[in-house]
Amino acid sequence: MEKYSNFLLSNGVKPSVQRLRIYEFIHTNRIHPTIEMIYSNLSHEMPTLSKTTVYNTLKLFVSKGVAKAINIEDTEIRYDADLSTHGHFKCKSCGGLFDVMLKIDNLVIEGLDNFKIEEYQVNLKGYCNVCKPN
Ligand SMILES: [Zn+2]
Ligand SMILES: [Zn+2]
Repeated sequence: MEKYSNFLLSNGVKPSVQRLRIYEFIHTNRIHPTIEMIYSNLSHEMPTLSKTTVYNTLKLFVSKGVAKAINIEDTEIRYDADLSTHGHFKCKSCGGLFDVMLKIDNLVIEGLDNFKIEEYQVNLKGYCNVCKPN
């Protein structure tokens, strides 16, 4: 908990008990949870927690750069504590969101001569190995 607390502090987030627990949850559970998933997992151990608090906390985390928001669908935002550059694959059947590693050095990108790429987002969709239809 101490390392999470220091990490939040060093990024300008005052680590209240609820914020700390929410951060720990998204850091430990690499399922890229929605607000809904975080709330339903933590509300029983923190009865004073509200969905608004979870929402505001995640908004703060994203603005301070301690978590990333993934907009793979218009209807749902998923959250990621992994700040490294990586892509995501969403299963259309079970809704699972999986991390994807991409080697951008070998990628062929056309139409950006003399541009400097600093960030990229790659979102893939399909069926995971469990849900894949035969
Ligand atoms: Zn699946
Ligand atoms: Zn991720």
